[in-house]
Amino acid sequence: MNSRWFAPMLLAGALLGWLLATFAPDQSWLFELTRIVQTTFLTALKMIIAPLIFFSLISGVLKLRQTSSMGRLGGVTLTYYFATTSIAICIGLIVVFFIHPWTAYPPLSVMPTPPSGLLSQQDASLGTLISGVLTDMFANPFSALADLNILGILTSALLLGLAAAMTLPSDSKWPDLFDQITQTIFTLARWVLNFLPLGLFAIAHQLTADVTIDTMVSLGQFALVVLGATAFHGLVVLPLMAWWLTGISPWRFFQQTNQALFTAFITSSSAATLPLSLQTAEERLGVDRNKAAFVLPLGATINMDGTALFEGIAAVFLAYMFGIDLNVAAIVMIFLVTMLASAGAPGIPSGSMAGVQVVLISVGIPLEGIALLLLIERPLDTFRTAVNVEGDLIGSMIADKYS
Ligand code: ASP
Repeated sequence: MNSRWFAPMLLAGALLGWLLATFAPDQSWLFELTRIVQTTFLTALKMIIAPLIFFSLISGVLKLRQTSSMGRLGGVTLTYYFATTSIAICIGLIVVFFIHPWTAYPPLSVMPTPPSGLLSQQDASLGTLISGVLTDMFANPFSALADLNILGILTSALLLGLAAAMTLPSDSKWPDLFDQITQTIFTLARWVLNFLPLGLFAIAHQLTADVTIDTMVSLGQFALVVLGATAFHGLVVLPLMAWWLTGISPWRFFQQTNQALFTAFITSSSAATLPLSLQTAEERLGVDRNKAAFVLPLGATINMDGTALFEGIAAVFLAYMFGIDLNVAAIVMIFLVTMLASAGAPGIPSGSMAGVQVVLISVGIPLEGIALLLLIERPLDTFRTAVNVEGDLIGSMIADKYS
């Protein structure tokens, strides 16, 4: 599905909803019709999410087997990716904890999905929360898949992937099989996504009654909070880390990398920027060619600081918009799921939107929230992709120096 359809379909749905609400308030059959379309579309999306996460994670871990066989280079690279992505999510969650201007406006009146079990226990003690998280994590894989228990699905897939990576002989056909199953589910996902324009149209129509000027102002404030936190991570945290660990001054770093960062900004795609990132790392930052060829393609796929930061803030914002109180367990869940969702996002424009759905489902936020995010998503993608690529380039320098 071409992303140029997003905005027209959203606007058409919203306009139709507004026209109907104003001039034909008793045309409830149309409202019923778009509600059926919305429900069918969102249910179909949910149908593929569980198997998609499960199989793609197992096949991802099996692919990483190759990475860890790269010894110290693989270890340094993965440690750096894990550490900086965690820092990015923490920055996002800390910033949104202190700055959340949208709470001055009332939430939407769309009913949230009632949170199940642990996430609904707002006043549970720390012990209960921890044991609840652990119970969710180590749920029986079949029940986790059936209940869309995202934490349980992630844990069982990770553990199964690790066990398979350690058990299977190096010439085993199983990794290919998991890869093929994942590709098959992706085909199914593409079928569902072909209906995205229609789904968005229906969601926008259903949301129209709720989307007011206040909502648009809240959305603008959300965008500013994301931009501020992204700028802090990209202009302060990452350059200082590079300075500390490799000795390159922030000024020199940006001088050497501006072309690659600007390309990432313009294309909103880490994958499309990869050729320039490789060239920049080798020719301008002096990274060993072979190491760059290993670290950067891996980074363009799994290291996405800007994306992780965006997903964390988006989850907290949408939780407010849909009237959901997030307890400590939900925040921990957002942290963990965002970590994996950002690593799984493809380096293409709006690549993170599938992962955002997983984060939303994990804490019971309605998937309709995606329609709100899509209104503001494209301009934000430019900045977060530049930060994603910046993180990869710094990773290549660090891996070069310490391996
Ligand atoms: N556009 C981003 C990238 O390519 C992915 C995303 O956050 O949507 O890095």
